[in-house]
Amino acid sequence: SVEASIPEPQREAWTKNQFDGFKNKDEFEKEVVRHVETTLARSMFNCDDVAAYSATALAFRDRLIKDWNKTQQRQTFTDSKRIYYLSLEFLMGRALDNAMLNVKGKDIAKSALDELGFRIEDIIGQENDAALGNGGLGRLAACFLDSMASLNYPAWGYGLRYRYGIFKQEIIDGYQVEVPDYWLDFNPWEFPRHDVTVDIQFYGHVRKSQDANGKTVANWEGGETVTAVAYDMPIPGYDTPSTNNLRLWSSKAASGEFDFQKFNSGEYESSVADQQRAETISAVLYPNDNLDRGKELRLKQQYFWVAASLYDIVRRFKKSKRAWREFPDQVAIQLNDTHPTLAVVELQRILIDKEGLEWDEAWAIVTATFGYTNHTVLPEALEKWPVGLFQHLLPRHLQIIYDINLFFLQSVEKRFPDDRDMLSRVSIIEESQPKMVRMAYLAIVGSHKVNGVAELHSDLIQTTIFKDFVKIYGADKFTNVTNGITPRRWLHQANPRLSELIASKTGGYDYLKDLTTLNKLEQYVDDKAFRKEWAEIKYANKVRLAKYIKSTLDITVNPAALFDVQVKRIHEYKRQQLNIFGVIYRYLQIKEMSAEERKKQAPRVSIFGGKAAPGYWMAKQIIHLINNVGSVVNKDPDVGDLLKVIFLEDYNVSKAEIIIPASDLSEHISTAGTEASGTSNMKFVLNGGLIIGTCDGANIEITREIGQENIFLFGTLSEDVEDLRHNHTYGKHAVDSGLQKVFDAITSGKFGDANDFGALVSAVRDHGDYYLVSDDFQSYIDTQKMVDEEYKNQEEWVSKCIRSVARMGFFSSDRCINEYAEEIWNIEPLAV
Ligand code: PLP
Repeated sequence: SVEASIPEPQREAWTKNQFDGFKNKDEFEKEVVRHVETTLARSMFNCDDVAAYSATALAFRDRLIKDWNKTQQRQTFTDSKRIYYLSLEFLMGRALDNAMLNVKGKDIAKSALDELGFRIEDIIGQENDAALGNGGLGRLAACFLDSMASLNYPAWGYGLRYRYGIFKQEIIDGYQVEVPDYWLDFNPWEFPRHDVTVDIQFYGHVRKSQDANGKTVANWEGGETVTAVAYDMPIPGYDTPSTNNLRLWSSKAASGEFDFQKFNSGEYESSVADQQRAETISAVLYPNDNLDRGKELRLKQQYFWVAASLYDIVRRFKKSKRAWREFPDQVAIQLNDTHPTLAVVELQRILIDKEGLEWDEAWAIVTATFGYTNHTVLPEALEKWPVGLFQHLLPRHLQIIYDINLFFLQSVEKRFPDDRDMLSRVSIIEESQPKMVRMAYLAIVGSHKVNGVAELHSDLIQTTIFKDFVKIYGADKFTNVTNGITPRRWLHQANPRLSELIASKTGGYDYLKDLTTLNKLEQYVDDKAFRKEWAEIKYANKVRLAKYIKSTLDITVNPAALFDVQVKRIHEYKRQQLNIFGVIYRYLQIKEMSAEERKKQAPRVSIFGGKAAPGYWMAKQIIHLINNVGSVVNKDPDVGDLLKVIFLEDYNVSKAEIIIPASDLSEHISTAGTEASGTSNMKFVLNGGLIIGTCDGANIEITREIGQENIFLFGTLSEDVEDLRHNHTYGKHAVDSGLQKVFDAITSGKFGDANDFGALVSAVRDHGDYYLVSDDFQSYIDTQKMVDEEYKNQEEWVSKCIRSVARMGFFSSDRCINEYAEEIWNIEPLAV
């Protein structure tokens, strides 16, 4: 047992003094006051909301860390297989509410804070989002951590502790302005582990030498060293003591790097330059979503993080004194996209250069250890690095990549001797100018399983970008794991009243542990009282969002109007331009209507939110157009309540928690075949909103689960996209009259300087319309008309919402994690 490892007399001293955490309101109150007075050095006379938040968070942190310790001890002593989830992004959002709900301490906290003179909602609102991610990929990683802990899997997340997460977005004169995110000002959730450090090497050269047995060994020498310091964040599971770890690495200058000589001779500034250079590695999150920019610092980040994580993983494995061949029985590593692919090379390097294993033995271990999740087929997002950059930054790794490629191509040649083209097509090295390392190919070759994130997406990767690899390895290596979301945060936390109503009908909160239990709701679809309660909750959530809109934008919206929401990263493939063109079309129609006709119209609030990558000019134009349309429409007396156009600043996780429960209709309208899965689509439906969407990503499976009568699908199918693109002649192509009217309004300067938006119009009209906006415009407008009609029948609308929620069980990230565990990781939950 755990205790038996400590000698008797000490054991007693330790066990009798165990910190027990709080068990009731009084004990919690005491903890809060203690933290205010000692940890924070404040007092009851100057305890503001921030201090009360801090003390509350610290009290819960103490509580979590107790469970965390026990969980880690159990994992060590049972020597169970662990899953390591490597992700460059973890979009965690706020931690306090989630922690309180997962450990079932929120009621205690609420009444204690009340007695101390604080409202729990205000306290929760003090926390900065941990925004260490761009969008879907990072939020998926966060949902996975919640599920892995909730299902008692021994799991660690590994990432980077960026000093600045995703920038804060301000809208000034309709334009996006980026402001740094000082999220670390106070972060009670992290534990710096100044004793857990790893020195990471960069640059230098490789020298070959012979060992005692005459074997050639590679020595990576010289270059510079940067130190990685671990920061741990406890990840509580829901209704279980399992508390896993998210370990984030921070960079600092290696000890000894500080140049005292320079310092003494008065060159203060240059003496700290090395230190600053080292700290730069983990300073910022790259703000691109679905775009690869190939910057050296990014590759440095990747290696720094991967090397530190593998060092840690290997160190933990070596403590068990097992043979190396057992490594894959103890360790599964999942690559969240290609960003951590260097881990494949680094593990091979450790095994052959440091541990003296033969190549083949090492390579068998490596490939049995890794799984790779692909997140996109967009060519601009597929990671490639110039060979020259590798040679400079990671010379030994480049040699190993060449060897991996050589052996791989030899095996391909043996199997396909007559297909010379195949070799250049699948080579990890692209023979371009300059030569590039194709990271996705390296990830495939280095993993035993490759998965896509929704059925359509997994089919597409197997039939397009990776089809040669399916021929080479067979279809078994490729699989699908449709994404999921945690119902704890995305229903229970974000929509407490709906969660309570559901619990009252499905037999308590167990549905949060088995989301398929939601199907019990279906029997209440015809229950008028239930429908009424359901509708009241939606209305209250809309009132809350309307208040938020009033307080941030000073625009009054009518909560009885249909709230039509599109919140996600701004991207041409996600087609916010299609949405805003549709809004303009609606506006022009309203303007042409008689007063009588206007009375028959269903009022709408079009709500947008999302960040554009700072260097993505077209996306920024889209934001500008939305804001300009808003400023015209929102004050047009002809329009009144019939249409409001809102752009919510700085969309992030905590705002998503307010916006999503308030939606009647949300838009998931990517060009077919471009959105790998989408996860906000699942969140909106789970919160009782309907969706308008294309046949893309997980929309297809959502339709299958909830029934096509409960979703508004429109537009081109993915199998037709290529032909349509081909047919768009690269000159002007036909745009139908409705869309033409929209373009005329824009180019007439109705929404501000026409020149500003010329590129948005001509991308569709003159430059091939790559995203098929013109092809899908009419069916989008027609489908929106159906939405207007159906929304008028509220009884039927609410029934559709209830039915949809009842059928959403499949989309829990718990289902998803169980699939990974069974099919890819071969790992069991640890009984508690
Ligand atoms: N950004 C944030 C802040 C989110 O919370 C989410 C999902 O909830 C996303 C991006 C992903 O949205 P989508 O799946 O619509 O791209």
